[in-house]
Amino acid sequence: MPLPEQVAQRAELIRPLLTITDRAWGRYAFSRDILRDRIPPEQQDAWTEGAIRCGREWAVRCGVTPGPGAPDALAAGLHLKVGQSDAPMTEKRAVFAACLPDGEILLMQEPLARYREFCAQAAGTDQAGLFPTPEEVRALLLAHEVFHAIEEANESTIYTRTQKLRLWKIFGFANDSTVRAIGEIAAMYFAKELTGSRFNPFLLDPLLFAGYSLSGAKTIVCDIIEIAGKISEEAHDGKVNQLPGVQQAQR
Ligand SMILES: [Zn+2]
Repeated sequence: MPLPEQVAQRAELIRPLLTITDRAWGRYAFSRDILRDRIPPEQQDAWTEGAIRCGREWAVRCGVTPGPGAPDALAAGLHLKVGQSDAPMTEKRAVFAACLPDGEILLMQEPLARYREFCAQAAGTDQAGLFPTPEEVRALLLAHEVFHAIEEANESTIYTRTQKLRLWKIFGFANDSTVRAIGEIAAMYFAKELTGSRFNPFLLDPLLFAGYSLSGAKTIVCDIIEIAGKISEEAHDGKVNQLPGVQQAQR
């Protein structure tokens, strides 16, 4: 039986992303941050490394045995309400999950339902192993939001909130800002560690978005590949290689 077209398209989309380094995913996260132009690449790499460590450490520290059921167990242990939203998504506003200010976590049902339909098509084909299961996707999304709740509850001490960018300083007055991308990166690696998934949760961006717009998903993939290309050029020029500690983030 020929491969369903949708499966072939999405396999093509995802395959090049399986070898993207942590550092490149980090730069991708920073490229989507409003402060991106104010943060030099070396600083982005250093924060990526710290964010990954922070996310992994908190996954261990929370004391829940890693696995697909861990995010639900942890959310319950932290008394976080997990709800569903049926709000339809649009190409312009793609949100798969959210952590509300009152601590409730919302998982959007529509993108998950679309992904479930897609997986039913992929099941049994030789490409099925390229894709996380719908349950795995749900667990990764939930874990990501649980991390944001943990950040909220520990904002004075957690790495993702104590790292700040100086926006300006005049006559002894300074304005420092937290950087959203640091929390996003940490949340992704927290989710990976907590669920025990072999997939990098950053993959979910293009993978779920493809259910709405294949061309939009392709744009995301192209952005990431371009970022990864730029990093290998820098490494070639010897620019970034001398930085202390960045090697580790390449694992
Ligand atoms: Zn997030």
